[in-house]
Amino acid sequence: MSLSEDFRLPVACPACGSHLMRVSSVKNPDDQVHCASCHRFVCLWHEAQTVLKKGSGSESESLIEKAVNRGA
Ligand SMILES: [Zn+2]
Repeated sequence: MSLSEDFRLPVACPACGSHLMRVSSVKNPDDQVHCASCHRFVCLWHEAQTVLKKGSGSESESLIEKAVNRGA
């Protein structure tokens, strides 16, 4: 039984530089997304979706930076 799944985020984890993120398999908009390698909180699922749509770039980077600084 898998309770979470991994996906690749266009923006790297600010702590370890990994692009592999983990989210619950339910994927509620407010579910927390954590880095799959260092387990740091990165953003919420709805924010990750925005970044996935936008792709890499300064807009996505600042969105993730804000989410990380805001914390869980
Ligand atoms: Zn990390």
